[in-house]
This record gives sequence, C-alpha cells and structure tokens, in this order.
Amino acid sequence: MSNLDKVLQNQREKYREVFQYSVEQLQSRIDEIKPADVIGDIFDKFPENSSGKIWQEKVLAMLKYDISKDIYMKFQEILAERVNYSCVGCATCCNLACSEFSPEELKHRAENGDNFATQFLSVFIPYNSKEDARKIYPEYIALLEQNNENDVYFYHCPKLTEDKRCSDYENRPQICRDFPDNPLTILPKSCGFCEWKEKSEVMTLMLHAMIEIVEYYKSKIPV
Ligand code: SF4
Ligand code: SF4
Repeated sequence: MSNLDKVLQNQREKYREVFQYSVEQLQSRIDEIKPADVIGDIFDKFPENSSGKIWQEKVLAMLKYDISKDIYMKFQEILAERVNYSCVGCATCCNLACSEFSPEELKHRAENGDNFATQFLSVFIPYNSKEDARKIYPEYIALLEQNNENDVYFYHCPKLTEDKRCSDYENRPQICRDFPDNPLTILPKSCGFCEWKEKSEVMTLMLHAMIEIVEYYKSKIPV
C-alpha cells in the first residue's frame, strides 16, 4: 500500500469515526429539547398542534438555522487559519491539475457561466497522455488507478517556467491563489499547506459529516 493510499484510507476511517460521534452529538441536542410528555422519536408522525409536532418544528428550525450557521462559521474559521501557511513554490499543483471533466465539457460549462471552469481553462491545458502526468506525481496517478478512478483528465499550466516559477504571477486567477481551498484536498508532501491540512482535517470531516446528517434529519422529520 502506498503512502498516499494510506492517507486516503486513514481519512475514510476518520470519517466513519467522526460520523458516528456527530450523530450522537446531534441526537443528544435533539433529546435535550424533547418535551417530557412526548413518547416516540423525532421521525415519528405526531398529530397537528401536539407537543411532538411542536418539538419537530423546533428541531427543524435548530437544524436549518443554528446548526447550519455553526457549520458555516466553523468552515470560515478553518479557511481563516489558512493565512498562517503559504505556498513554498513546489509547483506540483501547477504541473498537475485533475478534473472529472474533459476539455470539451469544461468549455461547455464555461460557456454556461461556470466561473471555476472559466478560470481553469484560462490556465490549464490537457496533458497529451496519462503517462506524461504520471511523471509529475506517480503516487497520485497510481492511487487513482488502484481505486478505479478512470474518468479523470489531467492538465498542466503552460505558464510555469522551467525553474518552477509562474510567468504570470500578478495575473494568476483566483483558483491559483486559493489552492488548496479545502483541507481534504490530497496534497503532495512538498506542499506548504500540509500542516494546515493536518490540523484542520478532523474538524473538516466532522463538518462534512454534520452536513450529511442534518440533510438526512431534515428529509426524514415528517413535518
Ligand atoms: S497561472 Fe501560475 S500559479 Fe496558476 S497554475 Fe499557472 S503557473 Fe501555477
Ligand atoms: S502544491 Fe502547495 S506548495 Fe506546491 S505550488 Fe501548489 S500550493 Fe504551492
């Protein structure tokens, strides 16, 4: 098993753990506001105007406003923490960008107003072959293959000079300035944001788990 594969497996295991923990946390917040006279659980059907129905409405409001706001604020804190780290210029992310979309699909998306696709196409061009991409980050390509991730397209930026400098640094688009914009992004060991990723990963997984759980509760509470 490669180091990268271990990293990904470790991330999956952590997600399972934080998911279970987050379910318990959320359920205890729901139980805290459960009226004493209600028998049944939050997914049961209760008569109109009953304590059970009012409880469900309160829980839905808590999920939609309080908890969603907490999740958003926590994400902002994680992003704010990113300013304490910086790019060390290893150039891996300029030399290898992956997308689930082909150049034609990206063009189509850009023409339909997708800002990310527009920015992406303003810098990246496709590699001639996967083998060319493999020379840049062999571990990453091997990991995709092990996981049968076959629908991935590989790109690189022609603005990168031979000495790994950006030849249009002042005008580089926002996607270059923001990379990596999520601690769950797979980063090369050389990246200056690895420490930020390490510090924020568990919290980010927990926030992702909370979003998933909140959506589940919102769809299942019969109001
Ligand atoms: S524009 Fe500059 S920073 Fe952005 S990918 Fe190209 S070389 Fe890298
Ligand atoms: S992988 Fe990280 S350190 Fe390397 S160029 Fe990209 S942002 Fe900078």
